[in-house]
Order: sequence, then structure tokens, then C-alpha cells
Amino acid sequence: MSSPQSANISLEEAVREAEAAYVTANPESKAFHARACAAMPGGNTRTSLYYEPFPLTIVRGEGAYIWDADGHKYVDFLGEYTCGLLGHSNPVVLAAVAEKLKGGLSMGAPGVDDAAFAAAICDRFPTLDLVRFCNSGTEANMLALNTAREVTGRETVMVFEGAYHGSGLAFPPGGMNFTQPFDFIVCPYNDIDAARSLIADNRDRLAAVLIEGMQGAGGCNPGDPDFLTALQEETQSAGALFIMDEVMTSRLSPSGLQGKYGLSPDLTSLGKYLGGGMSFGAFGGRADIMERFDPGHESSFMHAGTFNNNVLTMAAGLATVTQVLTDDALNDLNARGDALRDKLNAIARDAGAPVEVTGVGSLMTVHFPGGDPGLWDLLQFDLFAAGYYIPHRGMIVLSLPLTDDDIGGLAAAFGEFVETRRAVMTV
Ligand code: PLP
Repeated sequence: MSSPQSANISLEEAVREAEAAYVTANPESKAFHARACAAMPGGNTRTSLYYEPFPLTIVRGEGAYIWDADGHKYVDFLGEYTCGLLGHSNPVVLAAVAEKLKGGLSMGAPGVDDAAFAAAICDRFPTLDLVRFCNSGTEANMLALNTAREVTGRETVMVFEGAYHGSGLAFPPGGMNFTQPFDFIVCPYNDIDAARSLIADNRDRLAAVLIEGMQGAGGCNPGDPDFLTALQEETQSAGALFIMDEVMTSRLSPSGLQGKYGLSPDLTSLGKYLGGGMSFGAFGGRADIMERFDPGHESSFMHAGTFNNNVLTMAAGLATVTQVLTDDALNDLNARGDALRDKLNAIARDAGAPVEVTGVGSLMTVHFPGGDPGLWDLLQFDLFAAGYYIPHRGMIVLSLPLTDDDIGGLAAAFGEFVETRRAVMTV
């Protein structure tokens, strides 16, 4: 981790030193990135995977571990930004996919697994009477928002500062470009007074309130259950749809955060791990709303998509939901996450370091309250060097195959980071 001369250096110097070590250790990833820049802007086709000076190229994954192009092995705590809940190469999912590969992929017809997968999703999330599949969480949210606009005849959508609902649906503090052209109003998160007043001001034009029960990309910022309950009431009494984006949070209990907190959204968007690692999105909810997607409905909504029921996703998702994600498996992983978060916070507290780890269950983010964002760079470089793969902005994601030793090892590496880097956290 830190070199002997790092004791009295500034944060900027510490990051520079760690970055130089990273560049030296990763010549193959650097070369991959240089080649990628020839055909993709920034060498990249997914902005969230980019970090300076170049991202690691990952060549293989197995269980809770991944290997980069330079042969380093990491314990994977990025977990494909929550999609990798099952870890890599889950044998049940691999077997389901292998079986399908024998029989052809693009059928242009309803498939044999579609109905069972849909039923399994509706069973798992009781507020979903009916569900439709699509290809990503982004698409699920856009479809849910379009649905709300159509069924209410209104245009405005309330979202929350710090939210991430997909590509073109990001609302970080300070605003974002490239936003989808919905009529958005942005409310502070966890502020019921602000929400009440915005709903009152927009009562006749509000189509939907779209919210994550815990802001994931926004820093694993948990929603207050009382806030969420009151918001649901206010939204529904204004005649607007309460839409929960559970793309990330649905893994936080067997029936999602909505189940954990007793919420009844009109619509829910889903994605990520539920497709077993394949491209996946879904949205669903109240029968009277979702029935509009029935082609036999007198004014049915046109929702197409070549890959909506692609054979591999349907098979992998069905195996995931019915065979792998038992209530016990999810509850146990979330309990391990709660314990890890408590442990990391205790380590920081005992060291007197200005670090806070927030989240719910198996998802958490390391924050440096009042600190420089460069601390996240340093955390990532240090944890990479110690053999732990985490995202750029301090997120830590647990997956089912992680052992207690893996989790304990991460806590120890975090402890070493806090100890050796405490001096640059406050300068
Ligand atoms: N909603 C939330 C809460 C997410 O975290 C994400 C992705 O991280 C999305 C939507 C978008 O999902 P996708 O990347 O599958 O489009």
C-alpha cells in the first residue's frame, strides 16, 4: 500500500504516487485501453467503467474472484455494480444457459421459459400483478415513465437529487447533461416537506414520482422508511403513480426494499442480477395499468423489443430466481453486509478517521465527509494493490460466493488504508 515516504505528503502527492504504481503494475491493461481508444470515444462504451488513468481490463471471473489482463487476481467487491450478486460462473445458471445454447437463440416467438420467469418475478414481488420484460434498467424506467404519462394524461415526473435511474436518467447534485426529455422536477431526497410542497404545486400535472428506496449510485444513501411511506401516500393521493426503481435495491430482501418497508408502488422497475448476469430489465405493477400492454386491449400500448424475451436471459433468470436466490441466501448475504458495514465504521471510528460507510444490507459506500474526492481515487488504488476490486466511487458490493475470509480480508485492507492514509484525509 503506501510507501515509507508517504507519511508526510499531501493527498495530491499520495494519489500521484499510487497512480504511478498502478501504471507500472498494469502495462497490459494500459495497452488494451490505448487500442480501445482507436474505435471507442475514451476507449470505452460504458462511462461508469472509466477511471483515470485507464481502467483495468478484466479477462476472467470465477466465483468471487476476477483476473485482469496483467494476471493479477482480485476479490470482486464491485460485483458488476450489483448485477453480479451470484458471483461469476454460478453452476446452476451456467447449466441452464448451456442447455439453451444447444437449441438455438433467436426464435422470433414466445419462448418456453418466458411465462415461468414472469410468474416467478410476480411471486417474488407481490405488488407486481403483471410484468413485462425489456433489456436494461434504463429501458425499464423509461417504459414505466411513459406508462405513467399515458395512464394519467399528465407530463411531469418528480425525481430526487442524487438519483440514478439509468443512462440519461441521472440527477446528481449540480445537475447533469444528456438527460432524457421528460418534464422532470427534482426534489431533495428524504425531505418530506419539500416533496409535499412540490407535489402540491404540481398536483394537476404530476404523472409520477420515481424513486430508489436507497440511492445506489448516489452513494448507498438509504431512504428513511417513514419518508418513503409518506411520499407514497402523497403521490397516490395526487392521482400520480408511485414508481419504485428497484433495479439495485430488489436484492436487499427477498421481496425488495418495498417488501422490507411494506410499500405498495403502483409500478416497479427491475434489472441487473434478476437476469442471472444476462442483459435484463423488467417493469410491472398494478393489473389495471399493466393490462394496457395486452395487444387485445382496446387502446393498448405498443411495447416491442427484439431481445425482450431472449432465450438466454429467460433461462438464466428463471434458474436464478427459482433455484439460486432463496430467501435464506438473500437474508444471509444482507446480514453479512450489515455486519461488514458496522465493522468498517467501527474501524474508522477507532482510528479517529473522517470516514463513514452507509448503505443497507449487501450494498454500501465509503464516504469521506467534507473530504476531497481524490480520497476515492486513493481508496481504489490502495484496495487494487491489496487485491480487492472495487468501483471508483467507494462502493462495496457483496456477492453470494464471497467467503468470510474474503470479507475479513477486505475489512483488514480497509483498516490499513484508514491507518496509513489518515494523515491525508484531513489536510
Ligand atoms: N436504476 C438504478 C437504480 C440503477 O442503479 C441502474 C444501473 O446502475 C439503472 C436503473 C440502470 O440499469 P441499466 O444499467 O441496466 O440500464
